[in-house]
Amino acid sequence: MKTTTVKEALTISSLIGEKVTICGWVRTFRSNRFIALNDGSTIYNIQAVVEFEEIEEAKLKKINTGAAVQVSGTVVESQGKGQKVEIQVNEFEILGEANPEEYPLQPKKHSLEFLREKAHLRMRTNTFGAVFRLRHAMSFAIHQYFHNKGFYQMHTPIITGSDAEGAGEMFRVTTLDLDNIPKGEDNKTDTSKDFFGKETNLTVSGQLEAELGALALGKVYTFGPTFRAENSNTTRHLAEFWMIEPEVAFADLIDNMNLAEDFLQHLAQYALDNCMDDLEFLNEREIAEDKLKPQIERNELNLIDRLKFVTANNFERITYTEAIKILENSKPYKKKKFNYLPEWGSDLQTEHERYLVEKHFKKPVVISDYPASFKAFYMRQNEDGKTVAAMDILFPGIGEIIGGSQREERLDVLKEKCKAFNIPEEHVWWYLETRKFGTCVHSGFGLGFERLVMFVTGMTNIRDVIPFPRAPKNAEF
Ligand code: ATP
Ligand code: MN
Repeated sequence: MKTTTVKEALTISSLIGEKVTICGWVRTFRSNRFIALNDGSTIYNIQAVVEFEEIEEAKLKKINTGAAVQVSGTVVESQGKGQKVEIQVNEFEILGEANPEEYPLQPKKHSLEFLREKAHLRMRTNTFGAVFRLRHAMSFAIHQYFHNKGFYQMHTPIITGSDAEGAGEMFRVTTLDLDNIPKGEDNKTDTSKDFFGKETNLTVSGQLEAELGALALGKVYTFGPTFRAENSNTTRHLAEFWMIEPEVAFADLIDNMNLAEDFLQHLAQYALDNCMDDLEFLNEREIAEDKLKPQIERNELNLIDRLKFVTANNFERITYTEAIKILENSKPYKKKKFNYLPEWGSDLQTEHERYLVEKHFKKPVVISDYPASFKAFYMRQNEDGKTVAAMDILFPGIGEIIGGSQREERLDVLKEKCKAFNIPEEHVWWYLETRKFGTCVHSGFGLGFERLVMFVTGMTNIRDVIPFPRAPKNAEF
């Protein structure tokens, strides 16, 4: 059967006067005549006008919010206001009923918390439809961006035997019988009996493998699921999230920053150019939500303006040392408002990052050259011996969106770093060999995909930008 999507019916003007068949779900049904029909192809509904005489009463009773229906009829210019075309229905089929006594999504406002518990149905709402269409658009734009720049996508393993990635707590992967774990002489788990003959975990990053790829293919990127068993119930962390990790040979820290900035600006521009219907909906939604909030919590710029702002303005670039100086001269510092004192040598806290991005600079900020002490072993040691060639990009309202660095390419320095981080060389022998054979300057970064989607949708909880979030005590659906 040839069907037309709601988006096609609404936008292809040559369909006016033609007979079409549309399948979708009923959003509302008014006056026993007007169905607002949505099929997910667009934020907009199409109005299907059903003539009472032509359809039996029993069938009419089944046109309830949430029901799946198939309508056939002629596309005509609309009489009512608010829509250009509508369907004059002459054939009508109920495909799947939705009992109004039970269907949880009624045509009224539901809270995001309520909808999180109905994750199997929430994609049928305007808000989540818009979010997940934008999520798709961003995924597509990312592949397109890298492809056009000569990068190759690399599929790095999801199960990893390397415990050197050092980005956080890992999820163990095992086929051992948990009720009867084989023990070695030291009474520790005998991992040689496990599936892979060694301890394995879900990956926290594809970077180490992506580096191997970059040192052969020049420019590569990964785009895959990433797992962190962080027991932090924040609005910015998931236990399973998607990460994009480009890695480039013969590129230093500045090249890396330039790539990251251009990449993020391109993605914001892509959303503005291709997703305006959904953006306008989310923008209006945010403005309405803001009205319910106290002045101080409202957005200074609305969603669309924030995207435009990012495309139009260079990011601020400062070093960690400069960031500490700014914080030490700030009002909240002098008024003792920070819960943690900013101090050279300790990591920036969320409150510090927010001050820099949202109060001081009011724009995205790239912070570079962090102390080596709290950054990963593979980041390149700077001449000062104290800092490494790292860079984080912080976004207003989001916090860290990108973390990256120039990688340590000098074998002797890298071996020293392994020692200092208690990483046995035999665990990363393959990584070290790339520094032995044809080593070169190279750099890369990781973009948290959901944090990007938060930025382009204006959603403030990361659980609302992934279809089925994984978080502590939460793996339903
Ligand atoms: P954060 O300080 O926010 O925990 P991180 O320093 O642990 O981040 P990286 O290890 O540098 O992050 O990971 C690269 C990117 O992946 C981050 O910039 C962020 O966008 C994203 N990210 C990290 N952890 C998570 C998580 N638990 N859920 C979702 N995205 C994450
Ligand atoms: Mn983290």
